[in-house]
Amino acid sequence: MVNEIGTAVAGVSPAPTSGALGMACRFCGERADHVFVDLGMSPLCESYLTLRQLNEMEPFYPLRVTVCPRCFLVQLGEYVSPQHIFSEYAYFSSYSSSWVEHARRYTEAIRTRLNLNDKNFVIELASNDGYLLQHFVQSGIPVLGIEPAENVAVAARAKGVPTRCCFFGAEAARDLLVRGEQADLLIGNNVLAQVPDLNDFVAGMKIALKPHGVITMEFPHLMCLMEGNQFDTIYHEHFSYFSLLTIEQIFAAHGLTLFDVDEISTHGGSLRIYARHTDDPSRPVAHAVDQLRSREQRAGLNRLESYSAFERQVKETKRRLLEFLIEAKRNHKSIAGYGAPGKGNTLLNYCGIRTDFIDYTVDRNPYKHYKFLPGTHIPIFPPERIQETRPDYVLILPWNLKNEIIDQLAYIRDWGGKFIVPIPEVQVCA
Ligand SMILES: [Zn+2]
Repeated sequence: MVNEIGTAVAGVSPAPTSGALGMACRFCGERADHVFVDLGMSPLCESYLTLRQLNEMEPFYPLRVTVCPRCFLVQLGEYVSPQHIFSEYAYFSSYSSSWVEHARRYTEAIRTRLNLNDKNFVIELASNDGYLLQHFVQSGIPVLGIEPAENVAVAARAKGVPTRCCFFGAEAARDLLVRGEQADLLIGNNVLAQVPDLNDFVAGMKIALKPHGVITMEFPHLMCLMEGNQFDTIYHEHFSYFSLLTIEQIFAAHGLTLFDVDEISTHGGSLRIYARHTDDPSRPVAHAVDQLRSREQRAGLNRLESYSAFERQVKETKRRLLEFLIEAKRNHKSIAGYGAPGKGNTLLNYCGIRTDFIDYTVDRNPYKHYKFLPGTHIPIFPPERIQETRPDYVLILPWNLKNEIIDQLAYIRDWGGKFIVPIPEVQVCA
């Protein structure tokens, strides 16, 4: 349901079709089949395989991303149901120490800014294993986590973080309201991209927020994705890719106003937006919002042709990475991977990099050990494997954490090992 200025009406979501061809925009309902980038067919990036599964068929789905010509929402068709993707999730936020530290700094800053105390209530959507809410719990501030993956919710409860296992949307929010659970602070970090029914989710946030409450959300910034060539952050679990221009329209359609924005370095460049009810005059809109909106306009994010250049850049990145790896293998170098993140799987599958180039990868998450990367079937070992086999190169797949990883693996220099960082373009760090 769309009004005359092209924004969806609050609480009423247009029904998206399931495929990319002829797809209706997830937000405004316009036909959104202008191609942003086509990464071919790829498996679900979190579907790590056991040894036995290597002998079975493996489902691949299109990774074809389009942009809406009206609201400029960059989006992927809902090829796979979210229940299938998220009911058992392998990603535990606490395995990244820099991410936990990022969350701790945020909780301190926001607690001071909003004067939060034990009379307030904080809700986090997609609260994962309690990596963030634990810091509020330690300060005596009541919290509730909402997390769709039961295995991850169990880990949160073990940390003392009350966590409810469900998918969030308008219905779940009305359920919170009935229980008297509205938020003074409503947090959603790296969740909005993963929501198939965007309008229902934002409508739910409107319901779950107290009259003078504040929403903060973090998500990768589309402008950084485009400028930094971060095509590997595209995967089936990420249905939407946001600019400030687009997210402002989406929130406005649901009676929410962005009153501040921070540009932060996580995930290769993210936005942290601050929102309130549109009819809450207590927080004026900060200058930062106008400034970033103008920069996005100057970068062309309000023009369709700016989105068309992206695919050429992605193809060139693939060619350069393969050239480097082919040359290394011709010189009899051994290459190991570091990390088994979702983004690594997009990169490896799109580029066709398998055990012909990478002997194995390692990860700190024990859940992934002795499994295999989807599609490429590269085996995953504990990090000690690198010390044992002394590879010539270590390809860093979670390049957003490259400084942390280069510090942790400084010992590879003992045998002359070097790091390869694939994005924004292939780079070797001795
Ligand atoms: Zn649209």
